[in-house]
Amino acid sequence: MTYQTINPFTEQTVKVYTGHTDAESFDALDRADAAFRSPDWGQGPIENRLAVLSKIADLFELRAEELAQAASVEMGKRLADAKEEVKLCGGIARYYAEHAKEQLKRTPCDTPMGDAWIENAPIGTLVAVEPWNFPFYQLVRVVAPAFAVGNSVLIKHAEIVPHCAVLFEALVRDAGAPDGACVNLFITPDQVAALIADDRVQGVALTGSERAGAAVASTAAKYLKKSTMELGGMDIFAVLDDADLARAIKIGAVARLSNAGQVCTAAKRFVVHERVAEKFVSGLKAEFERARMGDPLDKDTTLQPMSSKGALETITKQVDEAVKHGAQVVTGGKAASQKGFFYEPTILTGIDKNNPAFKSEFFGPVAQVYVVKDDDELVTLANDSPYGLGGSVFSSDHNRATALASRIDTGMVFINQWTSTAPELPFGGVKRSGYGRELGNLGIMEFVNRKLVVVA
Ligand code: NDP
Repeated sequence: MTYQTINPFTEQTVKVYTGHTDAESFDALDRADAAFRSPDWGQGPIENRLAVLSKIADLFELRAEELAQAASVEMGKRLADAKEEVKLCGGIARYYAEHAKEQLKRTPCDTPMGDAWIENAPIGTLVAVEPWNFPFYQLVRVVAPAFAVGNSVLIKHAEIVPHCAVLFEALVRDAGAPDGACVNLFITPDQVAALIADDRVQGVALTGSERAGAAVASTAAKYLKKSTMELGGMDIFAVLDDADLARAIKIGAVARLSNAGQVCTAAKRFVVHERVAEKFVSGLKAEFERARMGDPLDKDTTLQPMSSKGALETITKQVDEAVKHGAQVVTGGKAASQKGFFYEPTILTGIDKNNPAFKSEFFGPVAQVYVVKDDDELVTLANDSPYGLGGSVFSSDHNRATALASRIDTGMVFINQWTSTAPELPFGGVKRSGYGRELGNLGIMEFVNRKLVVVA
């Protein structure tokens, strides 16, 4: 297991980090448990913790440039996108600083037994296993609600973004969080499992692949720990025959190419009405061919590299396999012939149900396009997926689009825009996309003891 920074644009190794030992890992848990039990922190007044969240929001603003540069260098995010991510992180910390008190207030229960209410208490230490694709956002969306509630967090970040993990931990500490409230650990899957087994860990949050989700969720289940899983997706981007086509093409290209397609809610399957299919595909092709690969730190770059050599190899293999099974390449279809882990923006058509691509998540700049006759066929295709994370419907008919939203089996549907995220909007999926919600008023309730108190 090696935590290291490899710049995906230069392919150079920037720094290698030393892993934490078992003793260090359990020392972190001792400290996390102490923070949870502290009368000044986990068991203390919520105002103390909300003040720290406000400060975290301030520091995200103050350190935006440094944090954004680190994300660019480690996982290849375009600097402008990295700055947007950092801004969103500040927004999430600020959102909970301003709303958590109301969200967590006690609620009365109507009973003839006497005075009764539910109060929302912290449960202990959480283990957060997080991916590299949004190296700060993935952390803050677990840590901010945890702090509001009074839980501590041990972070196991992805191996390829150790610098981001260190910067995040320092930011939280500098904002005034006590020792142990949030600790980053460079540890292995076995060490993660050993922490989850400990009684002091009471919750597990993971964002990542199905493989990682299944492994970590089964450990959590074995030790009867609550978990949330935010896994992959094969979101549809539906374009109806009455859609504003120019807008759908522009947004569709961004929804697929942003972050080099490495987004769980990216538009992975374009499902287009037959009357507009030809125009849509030629518009999308033009947008894809306009994408400019280059240094993520250069403002003229519009397409970043893949996050790692492994990610580039995986997408290359997936597309080759899809083509072997009959898919047609409209544009792209191979790794770019330049330095850096770049894959050409690619459009595939002609994918039938027997093609392995039909049910595989493509975590790269590769669009699958399907043509449908009507809305019923669209729904059948949309729901014929092991995943159910997000999805978009483009139509100028509000009733038609919202009716479709109700029929699509996913955790989120966005109409006339790409599937995105905001501090106040609960985020999560169904089926193999996982369970539980992060952010908004639902996310904060995932790791809470909803304690009933009855006074006779
Ligand atoms: P992983 O799911 O392997 O990584 C996500 C996190 O899980 C990382 O911190 C990883 O650590 C950790 N992890 C993996 N296996 C275990 C385990 N058994 N026990 C504890 N922690 C574990 O994603 P990859 O980076 O390998 O990406 C592969 C695929 O995952 C992508 O192609 C995409 O389909 C999906 N993915 C989905 C994301 C989403 O936002 N939903 C985000 C990232 C990936 P380490 O880095 O050390 O392996």
